[in-house]
Amino acid sequence: MITLDEARDFVLSRVAPPSPTRIPLADAAGLVLAADIVAEETVPPFDNTAMDGFAIVAADTATVPTVLNVVGTVAAGSAADKPIFTGQAMRIMTGAPMPPGADAVVMVERTTYDEAASTVEIEISVPVGNHVRGSGEDVQPGDLLYAAGTVLGAGHLGVLASVGIAEVDVIARPRVGVVSTGDELVDDGRPLQPGEIRDSNRLTLLTLLREAGFEAVDLGLARDNEPDIEAVFRRGADTCDAVLSSGGVSMGAFDYVKVVLDRIGDMRWMQIAIKPAKPFAFGLIGDVPVFGLPGNPVSSMVSFELFARPALRKMSGLDAFHRATRLAISEDPLGRHDDGKTHFLRVAGGPDGAGRWHIHKLDGQGSHQLTAMARATALAIVPDGVDIGAGDEVEIIPIGTLGA
Ligand code: AMP
Ligand code: MG
Repeated sequence: MITLDEARDFVLSRVAPPSPTRIPLADAAGLVLAADIVAEETVPPFDNTAMDGFAIVAADTATVPTVLNVVGTVAAGSAADKPIFTGQAMRIMTGAPMPPGADAVVMVERTTYDEAASTVEIEISVPVGNHVRGSGEDVQPGDLLYAAGTVLGAGHLGVLASVGIAEVDVIARPRVGVVSTGDELVDDGRPLQPGEIRDSNRLTLLTLLREAGFEAVDLGLARDNEPDIEAVFRRGADTCDAVLSSGGVSMGAFDYVKVVLDRIGDMRWMQIAIKPAKPFAFGLIGDVPVFGLPGNPVSSMVSFELFARPALRKMSGLDAFHRATRLAISEDPLGRHDDGKTHFLRVAGGPDGAGRWHIHKLDGQGSHQLTAMARATALAIVPDGVDIGAGDEVEIIPIGTLGA
């Protein structure tokens, strides 16, 4: 058996992000920026009003109330066709450019407009700049907006749109194929025959991939024979940036995954000192990474968390590959395991009012018992030979929505 760290380092050392690609800004959500972006435009592009009201000369409001002549109207999307002078006002709508000569805005609620007389009574004194949003208050040309490595979120995309950027250089989202292997698997809803079970791993893995922000491709089911397995792995390597398979990586007599991958790829078959998810294979078909996850449903999920997710995050250009771990108080004894393995127990719980995590051990810790994994909000890490009693601290990996 090799250690978890050795296995993880091996996988991470063999994957890398691809060269950047230029894509439309609208497709860039969640991706890592590959080059610095410097603004070439000014935001706002002109002085404009933050309020519906009247553009005026602030000095005219030194004594109030005062009545000004209304000489025009300026709406958002247009510009005043003439300047204003002292004693004058212009009706103005939020976002409209300040007319030349105006230096303040009085909000409409503090005015009385007499349309027939083309006058407005102003109730309040206002300072220069009142409700005026200055040109360039948000962005100036030459500003470094975002550095390479930034993960583009909603706000970033909005800022880039605001300065007229239509395309960005990013690290493409990895496209990851998922295949299930096994003669016992049924995926079409028909009644089970003796010895058959339903394929659950494929949907689980496709969903884990999508939740983690990768593109997931369903490669279907491969039966336990060489032609089937070879065809599906070749198709995966031809059409995807990485392939995840489940099943066929342990010591079974019909584990043709090993035979095929050793022929068409460059694989390392590992026995890792962890439970669940001891068997694991990783390698390359051409330059496409292949993750051979174990078949047991809980094992395949844990293996995904420990190996595939970090590697795919590295391929996405992200710096933080691993989920964060933290300490929690265990409400239950987690036991002591003297089998040379690090145990990843399925636990539920979360932070209390003070942000301190409390967890309890879920029933059904078998690697085939997927319901406990589905209920788990974290995996508790119990190292070999360490006894964790009720009330003790334990290191956990929050997963699902709690382990962002
Ligand atoms: P294997 O690694 O192929 O020997 O599979 C280990 C265990 O996982 C066996 O009990 C399989 O039936 C089960 N298994 C394999 N693939 C799947 C799958 N896609 N969905 C559910 N269980 C599976
Ligand atoms: Mg199998």
